[in-house]
Amino acid sequence: MNLKESLIWDAHAGIFPSPEIDLHILEFWKKHSVNYLSINVGFDVMSRDETLAALAAYRRWLLAHPDQFLLAGTLSDIDNARNTGRLAISFDIEGINALAGDINMVEVYHSLGVRQMLFAYNLNNSAAGGCHDIDIPLTKFGIEVLAEMNRVGMIVDASHVGYSSSMELIERSCSPVVFSHSNPWSVWEHQRNIKDEQIKACAEKGGVVGLNGLAIFIGENDSSSEGLLRHLFGLIDLAGSAHVGLGFDYTPDINVDLGAILSARPDYWPAGQQYDTPNIGHAGPSKLRDLVDGMQARGLSEIEIKGILGENFARVARKSWMEM
Ligand SMILES: [Zn+2]
Repeated sequence: MNLKESLIWDAHAGIFPSPEIDLHILEFWKKHSVNYLSINVGFDVMSRDETLAALAAYRRWLLAHPDQFLLAGTLSDIDNARNTGRLAISFDIEGINALAGDINMVEVYHSLGVRQMLFAYNLNNSAAGGCHDIDIPLTKFGIEVLAEMNRVGMIVDASHVGYSSSMELIERSCSPVVFSHSNPWSVWEHQRNIKDEQIKACAEKGGVVGLNGLAIFIGENDSSSEGLLRHLFGLIDLAGSAHVGLGFDYTPDINVDLGAILSARPDYWPAGQQYDTPNIGHAGPSKLRDLVDGMQARGLSEIEIKGILGENFARVARKSWMEM
């Protein structure tokens, strides 16, 4: 199977959001046949101002490089990028703190290219519970934000969110909810990985779970293709092949001192969760060939494989972005 014949959708990159980042690193995804990538412009550690600064810098950079990239807001933008050999990009935000408590910001972010938003980043916030914190339901503000995201057309993302809040998002949302970059707990017990019930509930409502390539979510700092495939097949067994996708959470080497960032806010990456592992590995789009070979060896049909490579997330986007 030729990767170029499939839509390849990477639902989340793990690039640290900052106006200082040189986005030439995005060429890596292009080189590995990815057609669409969502990059985050903020997460709960950052303020609204810092998120807007990263968003503004990324927009300006992408608009200045139209030969290689396309700032996408619709499925037809993504088709257009694919047909012209460019990488389509839109933005996501990891956590509701970027709203600064102001519901009006949802539509503003949407108008600036944000097409997917997570409700929390590891810790509880004003909207929802985080996966490394005490389990809580959605707050009143969280329920309002969900309705506003459904109204403006943003993908509702439950990665990094705590158990009860994620189940409530799936229950309440008008559009299918995704876990853009989350692996199954049944394969590797890490608090960032998600339980069978979350995966099944997500699939039952038409959602998709994206396979994460960060080695500490796969096993003992395991970034092997075999490790990735173990998680991929674990997701397929639980959700069905129509509800699995890719969200590698990948970042190439960047000029940002991640160790310093993590140690400045240890509360967001708590002890006992392998975050202090030296030289954490990372599987990303360079593993696509191995993944396809592994899926073919397991007897998945071409339609199922194309779904996992991109069509499944595109289906959710079509519904969430109200293009049906
Ligand atoms: Zn993340």
